[in-house]
Amino acid sequence: MSAFVTRFAPSPTGHLHLGHAHSALFAARQAGTGGRFLLRIEDIDPLRCRPAFIAAIAEDLAWLGLTWPQPVRRQSDHLADYAAALKHLEGLGLLYPCFCTRADIAREIEQSGHAPHGPDGPLYPGLCRALAAAEAAARHAAGQPCALRLHMAKALALAGPLRWHDLDQGWQTARPDLFGDIVLARKDVPASYHLAVTVDDALQGITLVTRGQDLFEASHVHRLLQALLNLPVPQWRHHPLLRDEHGKRYAKRDNALTLRSFREAGKTPAEVRALAGF
Ligand code: GLU
Repeated sequence: MSAFVTRFAPSPTGHLHLGHAHSALFAARQAGTGGRFLLRIEDIDPLRCRPAFIAAIAEDLAWLGLTWPQPVRRQSDHLADYAAALKHLEGLGLLYPCFCTRADIAREIEQSGHAPHGPDGPLYPGLCRALAAAEAAARHAAGQPCALRLHMAKALALAGPLRWHDLDQGWQTARPDLFGDIVLARKDVPASYHLAVTVDDALQGITLVTRGQDLFEASHVHRLLQALLNLPVPQWRHHPLLRDEHGKRYAKRDNALTLRSFREAGKTPAEVRALAGF
């Protein structure tokens, strides 16, 4: 059995449900006997995350029978790490400020009459890509909030062709271009999911990234960021999403299916592990 370092990285925006249990148990199993399973709290978004859910996540996972080393990494404690990564990318000339609102982007897409779609929705149409430095500085000085976007074409040219390895699906040709100029620092949060997850996986020494198949394409972007930031490259394994008897994937809004509701209804951890496929 291989000895991978794996992690389960929930966002504390609600109580854990059966789908999370499946994902956490999957990650723990992949750590094998000699490996390590870590918990990470992805709480960079202060508007959506609640401290109460962090305690509940730990309690629910411990009830399921999982253990993990302390301290648990909380993204909100490590904003300086993401800022350093952004600085590195900025130094490579790969970032640009984007002042667009959602409405600006929607209008531009509508007017242009064609909207290439990526895994996360329509691609950014590039309105701010060629903004003159003086204009960006003026808008900045006027207090207009901006996001930071990755100039994908430049990043691809710098990184060259990349591959990554999924234990189930084999070698993949990295296709970060499918995402266009992604946001790496949001207007309201100084990092984005893609940036924080890539930096954290490296800093925590994760050697096997496990997560649901719904995030398979995100790994293309993470592979590119690893190359640009000179980070070690892990392997990946994406598990099929657990579905209910109607074929619907579990989501946070299905309150009846939270781990705590099973616990309160008298189910044992073994019964819930079985429901989660373990
Ligand atoms: N925090 C992400 C989520 O809750 C998962 C991150 C990952 O495994 O890459 O969906």
